[in-house]
Amino acid sequence: MSLPSIDTAVTYPDGDLTSTGVVVHLEPLADGRTAVLLDRTAFHPVDPVWPDQPADGGELVSGDRSYPVVDAVVGATDGSVLHVGDAPVRTGTEGWAFVVCHLVDDATGLAEGTPVAVRVGAARREALSAGHTACHLASLALNEALADLWTKEISVDGRGNPNFDQLAIVSSRILEGGSVDEYRIGKSLRKKGFAAAELAPRLDEVTARASELLAGWVATGGAVSIVREASGLGDRRRWRAELPEGAVEIPCGGTHLHSLGELARVTVRLDLAEAEGALGLTMHTTAEPA
Ligand SMILES: [Zn+2]
Repeated sequence: MSLPSIDTAVTYPDGDLTSTGVVVHLEPLADGRTAVLLDRTAFHPVDPVWPDQPADGGELVSGDRSYPVVDAVVGATDGSVLHVGDAPVRTGTEGWAFVVCHLVDDATGLAEGTPVAVRVGAARREALSAGHTACHLASLALNEALADLWTKEISVDGRGNPNFDQLAIVSSRILEGGSVDEYRIGKSLRKKGFAAAELAPRLDEVTARASELLAGWVATGGAVSIVREASGLGDRRRWRAELPEGAVEIPCGGTHLHSLGELARVTVRLDLAEAEGALGLTMHTTAEPA
């Protein structure tokens, strides 16, 4: 069975929970599982390069047989080897095909060309989408709330505020109904003009400002969408939200709500701690559905 030369077409960026496709490749793995590759899928896989949003839960269905998907990861192939979750290149790199690997315990009955229906668990997806939309909103609110702690010109976000989120982020984890973002404030951020010493005494003020912004945005019920030029897994996508001062975009590979009206409230909590000669800022974001 040859390896695919083109990306899996993905429909989850549009919010799809079901899709139909055919098996293009089956890869037996060392742990006894099988990676099932389809030409097209609604299943969101985790991207090990930046594992912010975890994989969907759900199943593949062929005829009257169900194949529970135990995990789904981004795979990459240059035509000779399939890297399952350990691609040596960034998703989207020229000359490589990026594929959704649906991991199943038992692939008996599946073969190249078998038509397969994909069914994604709706409750988990919805909660992850709410968490991811809230995560992006919170990052924009945090950038604005920290704006006057910058003493030098620095790259800005889609709303024109110094992009603390982009410059300081270490990891982002999307949860069901929220997110946890970790930021590192070290020497290099201070050199770029961030007044780190002022953060601790002003943490409550920053939290209040971010919360106020979030409440205002959620109240508008603005549209949220994913903008993309092509349907391949490796093609660039951007999250887009209509906020009162205009639309804002952030590069994003995950899933999202369709409207801020699906949220009742987004709240943030900021924790500051010393961490190996630097400051660690953790932002806990909670999204309450409407
Ligand atoms: Zn994102």
